[in-house]
Amino acid sequence: MEKETIKKAVEHYAFQTGKRLNPKAVLFDMDGVLYDSMRHHARSWMEISARHHLLAEEKDFYLWEGQTGAGTINALFQRTFHRDATEAEKQDLYAEKAALFTRYNDGNPMPGAADVLRVVRSFGLQRVVVTGSGQRSLLDKLEHSFPGCFSTDKMVTAFDVKIGKPHPEPYWMGLQKAGVAPHEAIVVENAPMGVHAGVAAGIFTIAVNTGPLSDADLQKEGAHLLFPSMDALAHSFPLLMDVIHFT
Ligand code: CA
Repeated sequence: MEKETIKKAVEHYAFQTGKRLNPKAVLFDMDGVLYDSMRHHARSWMEISARHHLLAEEKDFYLWEGQTGAGTINALFQRTFHRDATEAEKQDLYAEKAALFTRYNDGNPMPGAADVLRVVRSFGLQRVVVTGSGQRSLLDKLEHSFPGCFSTDKMVTAFDVKIGKPHPEPYWMGLQKAGVAPHEAIVVENAPMGVHAGVAAGIFTIAVNTGPLSDADLQKEGAHLLFPSMDALAHSFPLLMDVIHFT
């Protein structure tokens, strides 16, 4: 990525928020950023939709990615039956979906994610995971994939959040866990609702387009920078830090 593009993004952030970006922490979304898992989520949701005669197409699950499972189930019920899902329906369908995901998920990290984490660590920045996922033993999984990168007190999961993305709440909690202000953090997100949440929390938000959506789907939510992959972000991250510290 061109230095000029990065410079413009950093200046735009300062203009937007009245604060100069001074990162001390990077808040990472999980699915589609750290793990190449969205295809397995989408496949599980499509099977659940077919099983329960809910109107759905694969792209829905990328557009709705980041919100809670209950939110996705409710959206499907609204579209198909023009009513909200009951609490029991939400719980049952989410349990079925989670079981399918566990079966299909191969646990493969996103290509380039380890490189991004290595570069982020080399600049002495904290790493925080901010996810709507409620998988048990998430830290074990992260420790296995990215040894030494995360700790249990630096994670926001489905057990912490009440509202979920696109609301800024999960990222507010991430800032709190890192002990930093919005202009002292960077968000890395792959989903439109996640980008929306990061921007709404007042944080410099980097989109990585690792799925089937268009760049415009992420840009229209206000992403400050957009990369085609985590590899590309790893490559440009030192330049971003250089621009931040010397402009
Ligand atoms: Ca995601």
